[in-house]
Amino acid sequence: MPKVSVNPNYYSPRDMLMLRLSILIGGVLIGLFMIGDLQMVPKGLVDAYVTNRAFVQLPIVFALLASSFHPRFLQFAQAAFFLTILSLVYTNYYLIHVSWKLAAFSFPYEGTFLYAFFGFFVLGMTFRYALWLMFLSSAGFICLMLLDSVYGDRTFMNAGFVVGSLFIGVIGRHRLDLLLGELKGANEQLITLSTTDGLTGLLNRRAFTSESERLFAILRRSGQPLAVFMIDLDHFKQFNDCYGHQEGDRAIRCQADILRSVFKRETDILGRYGGEEFIVVAEGHSASESERQAARILTQWQDLAMPNEGSTSGKFLTCSIGICHGMPADYDSLENMIKTADEALYSVKERGRGRSIVDGGLTAQ
Ligand code: GH3
Ligand code: MG
Ligand code: MG
Repeated sequence: MPKVSVNPNYYSPRDMLMLRLSILIGGVLIGLFMIGDLQMVPKGLVDAYVTNRAFVQLPIVFALLASSFHPRFLQFAQAAFFLTILSLVYTNYYLIHVSWKLAAFSFPYEGTFLYAFFGFFVLGMTFRYALWLMFLSSAGFICLMLLDSVYGDRTFMNAGFVVGSLFIGVIGRHRLDLLLGELKGANEQLITLSTTDGLTGLLNRRAFTSESERLFAILRRSGQPLAVFMIDLDHFKQFNDCYGHQEGDRAIRCQADILRSVFKRETDILGRYGGEEFIVVAEGHSASESERQAARILTQWQDLAMPNEGSTSGKFLTCSIGICHGMPADYDSLENMIKTADEALYSVKERGRGRSIVDGGLTAQ
């Protein structure tokens, strides 16, 4: 049976557009920083600076942008975010190193936070990747400080700032992931509650209608047949009166279990239509296969032999089944197929119950 679910990892076309815009804005920010930085860096560093930013960092950003158009981008997106940010951080470290070697210039280190925070919160890196980024960026900065004393007696404090800020960013990302996980769980619970019938676990009428209408539309386009089964317990009022409401509930759950055991395909849609009335929509059957399935439902009730003393048509609880089998294209809507199945069910009730009828022809059982 298809599940109604939410997938928060799914990127809608709008999400993808926002992601690409964010990457583009990241590139523009690097360009804007270039304007500011070029006022600050000594003349002897301009070439190294422009090469670093324009010919290494910007191509890295645009490579990420280009990769986002790959059809399987979402499968490697997290790795791509991680590699992009890590390479931006390390090209920046290289610039700090070169600035110190060529001109004894202490190039600012704050870009490290900007890159990392862009990865954590704008690109949406997951906690695992964020943690690795924190470790590798911190380790790189410490190695850089051991290599060159770029920041003199402020080295220790600056290293503390880098490691501390990255740590705060990772914790923030972790909290966000926890909250998103909770939200996802609550969302799934809400969807289950709003689409499932509490007593039987089958789809409720509203969820059944939207799922089956979707299947109807698909089969109508592909020209495949569809079977609609309406199933109703016989003399159930008497059953309730005789054995009590709780036993009645148990019988309703039995009916749901029987249906689940007969309609096992992923595409079969099972719903509780109301009270002790059930509905199943199954794709691609032949009429005779539908009859066989109905027969299996009736046989299972016979095997259960659940007494129904108040019944006027037999000693045991039975059900009646009306089936509409046909091509969706021959019906205006799913509603018409349900109506036909309902009429078939009504005919079974009139003719004695405990049987099934396909589109008006009585099946012996
Ligand atoms: P028929 O053979 O013509 O279908 O007769 P019936 O007595 O089964 O008539 P109907 O289908 O109208 O019966 C509906 C009964 O189902 C009425 C109500 O007492 C019972 N019912 C509906 N929902 C529930 C439920 O959730 N639990 C229980 N125990 N009984 C329910
Ligand atoms: Mg009934
Ligand atoms: Mg009924």
